[in-house]
Amino acid sequence: MYRSHHCGALREKHIGSEVTLAGWAAKVRDKGFMLWIDLRDRYGITQLVLDEERCSAALLEKARKTRREAVVQVTGVVIERVAKNPNMDTGNIELLVSELTVLNEAQTPPFTIEDKTDGGEDLRMKYRYLDIRRAPVQNSLLFRSKIGLLVRNYLAEQAFIEVETPYLIKSTPEGARDFVVPSRMNEGQFYALPQSPQTFKQLLMVGGMDKYFQIVKCFRDEDLRADRQPEFTQIDSELSFVHQQDIMACFEGLLSHLLEEIHGISPAPFPVISYEDAMKTYGNDKPDIRFGMTFTELNAQAQNKGFTVFDAQELVVSIAVPGAASWSRKQIDTWIDWVKRPQIGANGLVWVKFNKDGTFKSSVDKFFDNDALATWATACEAKAGDLILVMAGEAIKTRTQLSALRMALAESLELRKPNEFAPLWVVDFPLFEEDEDSGALHAMHHPFTAPKPAHLSQLESNPKDVVAQAYDLVLNGNEIGGGSIRIHDRGTQEKMLSLLGFSDKEAKAQFGFLMDAFTYGAPPHGGIALGFDRLVAILGGKETIRDYIAFPKNNSGRDVMIDAPARLDDDQLNELGLKNN
Ligand code: ASP
Repeated sequence: MYRSHHCGALREKHIGSEVTLAGWAAKVRDKGFMLWIDLRDRYGITQLVLDEERCSAALLEKARKTRREAVVQVTGVVIERVAKNPNMDTGNIELLVSELTVLNEAQTPPFTIEDKTDGGEDLRMKYRYLDIRRAPVQNSLLFRSKIGLLVRNYLAEQAFIEVETPYLIKSTPEGARDFVVPSRMNEGQFYALPQSPQTFKQLLMVGGMDKYFQIVKCFRDEDLRADRQPEFTQIDSELSFVHQQDIMACFEGLLSHLLEEIHGISPAPFPVISYEDAMKTYGNDKPDIRFGMTFTELNAQAQNKGFTVFDAQELVVSIAVPGAASWSRKQIDTWIDWVKRPQIGANGLVWVKFNKDGTFKSSVDKFFDNDALATWATACEAKAGDLILVMAGEAIKTRTQLSALRMALAESLELRKPNEFAPLWVVDFPLFEEDEDSGALHAMHHPFTAPKPAHLSQLESNPKDVVAQAYDLVLNGNEIGGGSIRIHDRGTQEKMLSLLGFSDKEAKAQFGFLMDAFTYGAPPHGGIALGFDRLVAILGGKETIRDYIAFPKNNSGRDVMIDAPARLDDDQLNELGLKNN
């Protein structure tokens, strides 16, 4: 028996008992005649004590030589601590050691294994196994495991069954590039790693599984954006004989259950907002609705009043920043410079201070008098003391720019509170988006998404106005899930692929198996996938998913611990048929 208890288990009721513990020597404090060791494992820390009076000289010497992070097994009697530590679960007791065995030595770790470590990000990634010994990382992994279990139990109770789908497949289009795996047995041929189990879960519906879920790894070879991982985990699901509302109800139930269990809050029913309204009100299809600063269009109030800068623009749009009328010119200028940075690309900002005394002061006083500005304030529902910021330009671009400003302002005003949760659904997405340069149509969700039944007849004549039966689940400004009702007949799927630019031959080669399946009695079906890493991070009150992944890749998609990706040697390349000559 290595241990009778964990390092977090012992309390006053154990005083007097002999116990054996095993763990890592987190700290050794040596006072000469007396010596303490903090012994750590996943469950906590127990203080070990040795002294000249009660321990043999040999034992004391052995303890003295114990190095930080060595693996140690100790036996002793639990005693009451003289100086109690109310911040520790085990702070009322300590272990008077009678036997100590070093099970394995340890080199001095490259950074301190403490809650607040001195190790930088890169170093901790390189020695991730040491980083994992730290309580914050362990807690994140425990939290992730707990949420995984809650999800599994919830869905199992709703009669979902978990089915594994293959990782070595042929491309599934989710809008990113595939990672590919060469096949040694089929020279010159490649598997693709799934960007999602999309086609397989649809085939499971054709197979009559009715309700499927899987907590599954997906792989996307995307240009790396901040906080994206090339491999990530989804809670993936598919249901048969359902409408959009059924799927939304089911997953609203799941997220509510998680919020209830983890944070004791129940925000259901979630608001539902159309894509169009989300873009108009927030400039964003994943709005953070924990704070206001919603958009107000001011074309009627601000155009054709002599300020030519506004007149020619497609859109004049504003937000009211609460309490910011007191800002100095310098403060306002900082934000004007911020929106002019190339990353945002706006021409500038018009500002209007709605002073506490009801008067206005603006950067366009020459063109708009108090009464005119009052109409802006009324439209924006601004209060005395607010600062109205206005942008003008081409509608889509301007909304995107104002959205970026809204989010950055909220961040700086600390309105994005990590312990507040505001989920919502965004629905009625367009089925297609148009490539700006080529005019080609792309599927906004993916090519298997069904149009609204009433729009089906316009699929070919007016594809750009066709609305999809697609929905996104948004939490605190993050898209945490998305799904759709699927096409389940061959004719519509063929039409869809052809509109997306697939020739008949290409469509057959890539998706023939799915379209064939549709001819053997495919039930109406639909589903959704939630990004598990991000969901866990947000529920944990953080937005970096890396904190919740045991072995994450860095920002360049590298695992710096195992040094991957890496080159293959010539023999291996030869064997895979990948070596020229
Ligand atoms: N496969 C989709 C995705 O990964 C989700 C879905 O439509 O169910 O985003």
